[in-house]
Amino acid sequence: MVAKRKPLLLIFLDGLRPDAIDKLELLARLPEKRRLKGEFGYSIACHASMYTGLMPSEHAYWFVWQRKKGRGIFSKFARLLGFRIFDSWPIRVLAHRLFIKDVRSANTSFFGVPRPVNVRTRDLADLTVTEWKNYDEYGYIEGQKGFLDVLRDHSVELDLVGFDKSSHEESAILARHKHSGTAPVTYWFLGDVDHFSHKHGQMSREANKEFERLNNVLNAAYKDYCESFGEEPEVLAWSDHGHADVKTVLDPYEEVRLAGAKLKKVFHVIDGTYIRLWREGSDDAMYSRVVSVLKEKPYGFFIEPALAERHGLVFSDNRFGDDIFSLKPGWVFGKTIWGWSRTMKSQHGYCPDEPIMDGVLASSFPIQGGVVSIRDVYATVLGKMGLLENGMANSSKNLALNGLVSEPRHRPA
Ligand SMILES: [Zn+2]
Repeated sequence: MVAKRKPLLLIFLDGLRPDAIDKLELLARLPEKRRLKGEFGYSIACHASMYTGLMPSEHAYWFVWQRKKGRGIFSKFARLLGFRIFDSWPIRVLAHRLFIKDVRSANTSFFGVPRPVNVRTRDLADLTVTEWKNYDEYGYIEGQKGFLDVLRDHSVELDLVGFDKSSHEESAILARHKHSGTAPVTYWFLGDVDHFSHKHGQMSREANKEFERLNNVLNAAYKDYCESFGEEPEVLAWSDHGHADVKTVLDPYEEVRLAGAKLKKVFHVIDGTYIRLWREGSDDAMYSRVVSVLKEKPYGFFIEPALAERHGLVFSDNRFGDDIFSLKPGWVFGKTIWGWSRTMKSQHGYCPDEPIMDGVLASSFPIQGGVVSIRDVYATVLGKMGLLENGMANSSKNLALNGLVSEPRHRPA
């Protein structure tokens, strides 16, 4: 007879730093704690990696915006986009509101199709979003099974909390959730820490107040959980990356303009901490100019091939950029495709080699190894449910396996 497995409670806290874990009692009292290495990118890359156990080059969810030639969100209007009148952000934002309906309704992802703010309008004939489904939908990662998919394939009842977008803060969804008392796997998905960290900085006094509020929600939800199940669960809690206080906001256009280069003559996307450049659609001479200007900047660096290889960032079609410039912690760009970063007090997305970018993982059960990878979440969840072998079979590549499985380790042949 197989011993009855304890129910499993998964807790995801976007952007929680290892040095902030003690602010949340439920996590603080878990016996196992590890620093966790996220992906070289934003939450989208980290999410895809934690659900699939794959590197960005394998799951291909590196950035929200990617280039697919002729398949951008405004590709229908490709002929119009070249006109200068459309090349201003108010027009772009208005056009997004008026014309994005079709694209939007086909997209059920958590963030949908965001308003493209600082970008060349004509490039929107080529630029589209990477995510088309919500994290909790079956087949979230195109062509790969995430751990939620594998659990569903095995008819494991899931209680998923925080994915329905019914409140701006996921903790509000958790606060009103009533637990089933039956689901072998419950998953609390909480973006709060990331949101209030961007706004206030994670170690600020304002953030402490937010942590207190979140702490109360977690304690109450855990109590409700234990009462409905009549026992304590096994707990696996983790974040996807850390947070670094912002010291300087840079205007990327001005930064290169001072050296006589014009970013607007180059096909580019600026995220909070990256400038991504594509040769096609750029003025050739200006492209080289922009690259050489950025190379001299002390606050960042181009992701060179060896670094890209090591972090799994190599894409044969360069859909995320031909050349990618990354900022160092403490710096962010204003004027991004998202907006102006005016109220940005803290940021992430920097190279995971920087310790300030470490996330954290904590559990009620033993974990092997020292520092773990975000990709280990996949194996740990499925290992805990006795489904690791099945999970591995779904994708032979699935697995970083830095060691952290609680059950006998799978040994690749
Ligand atoms: Zn995140």
